[in-house]
Amino acid sequence: MADKVYIFDTTLRDGEQTAGVTLTFQEKLELAEQLKNLNVDIIEAGFPYASPGDFEAVKAISEKIKGPTICALARALPQDIDRAWEAIRHSQKPRIHTFISTSDVQIKHQLRKSREEVIEMAKAAVEKAKSYVKDVEFSAMDATRSDWDFLCQIFGAAIKAGATTINVPDTVGYILPSEFHKLIEYLFENTPGIDDVIVSVHCHNDLGLAVSNSLSALQAGARQVECTINGLGERAGNASLEEIVMIIDTRKDMLDLYTNINIGEIVRTSRLVSRMTGVPVQPNKAIVGDNAFAHQSGIHQDAILKERTTFEIIDPKRIGFHESRIVLGKLSGRHALRNRLEDLGYYLSDDQLNRAFIRFKELADRKKEISDRDLEALVENDVKTPAEHYKLDYIQVTTGNRLTPTATVGLRRNHTMREESAIGDGPVDAAYNAIDRITGLKTRLISFNVQAVTSGQDALGEVQVHLEVEGVRVTGRGISTDIVESSVRAYLNAINRYINVVKAEEDV
Ligand SMILES: [Zn+2]
Repeated sequence: MADKVYIFDTTLRDGEQTAGVTLTFQEKLELAEQLKNLNVDIIEAGFPYASPGDFEAVKAISEKIKGPTICALARALPQDIDRAWEAIRHSQKPRIHTFISTSDVQIKHQLRKSREEVIEMAKAAVEKAKSYVKDVEFSAMDATRSDWDFLCQIFGAAIKAGATTINVPDTVGYILPSEFHKLIEYLFENTPGIDDVIVSVHCHNDLGLAVSNSLSALQAGARQVECTINGLGERAGNASLEEIVMIIDTRKDMLDLYTNINIGEIVRTSRLVSRMTGVPVQPNKAIVGDNAFAHQSGIHQDAILKERTTFEIIDPKRIGFHESRIVLGKLSGRHALRNRLEDLGYYLSDDQLNRAFIRFKELADRKKEISDRDLEALVENDVKTPAEHYKLDYIQVTTGNRLTPTATVGLRRNHTMREESAIGDGPVDAAYNAIDRITGLKTRLISFNVQAVTSGQDALGEVQVHLEVEGVRVTGRGISTDIVESSVRAYLNAINRYINVVKAEEDV
């Protein structure tokens, strides 16, 4: 009989450690809701001790999301474990995940302890977690660069202290698949009590091996995989959930494993995460990339039309791609619009749908066929920012090759309007300077990207910015047919996000 693989999603914790990504409280809740629809087994909701914002998000997710286990991360320190428990105590299925470094290089330089002290800390942490909750996971950070016998020793101690899952992270993305296979086998052979717990892996993608390594560990007996949507995460990211799940699904003949993932939600979840984080999915990404099922060769196209399985190993419809698209246009109704938006991962309130429908009709007057990207652009400005602290009222720029670019910007905050003018190197720079004068915030532009969303002269342009606001990194997106306006909207979107993050922390 096939064995179940537990899918532990850490998009909200490790995924949020992606450079430049900050999710708001509201976005975290929305994403947790979608992870529940995807039917992941465990949601790692955050690291409560790390910040008040993280604590609040984990607490809210624990209270609202029923179904998956909700997990909170904690270092092997009493104060971390207390805080983690406080955040998840109201969950239906709470889990505390505690970790400590086990490689000599980290024990020596990061922890400045001895191996014996590390074992004692791990034991004490698991015992403390266990005094609160039955479900305790223990991770040996940098396991793949640790001494194997020491790993067996510390895992044995953690299991004895009550850990129910032990996790073997390839923290720095260093190990090879064959080597990892041997390590997992070694642990099974030499760790006391290991047959009574679940062995988990957490692989990073520094050498592009996160998915291969996870798979190798599964073949050696691991039964939980820690992964993220779109492979987001620290540095080069984590193992990608959609790839792991679809490998297990597609090659069950070889693996004899299964997951409980609702694979029809994969594409929708991927898009939601990409939109929220502002991190695009590369077009040639396995499973969820735009080109993952695009057949360019004439020979392939012809064969596919005769019989899909000639060149396709996955039916794209099963994971939520819609092949034979009904083209939306002028005559499409509200219902069709709502359906398509939901396919794209947008769940609008009636009010938001009404506003989107008006804009949809306006656009349909100008364009014959409305693409998915058009639709995303259409609703983006409306649903993207949960709370708009600063709202654009108007913008005016003068520019030219012999003029000093000048911008005047009017912003609304609550019910008051403020206006400022400034000069700059170009019209966008001038507008940003004017906005800084209004908000009084210290900002630094890290990157600026423009991209045409749609084709034609009246194309919608999308701007994406990475900003540092008062030392906090945030992203913002803005869409308009006018490039200066898109730029201003993206900038304000980032500033509003910053205020949301700071407010969430102050409200605690
Ligand atoms: Zn990690």
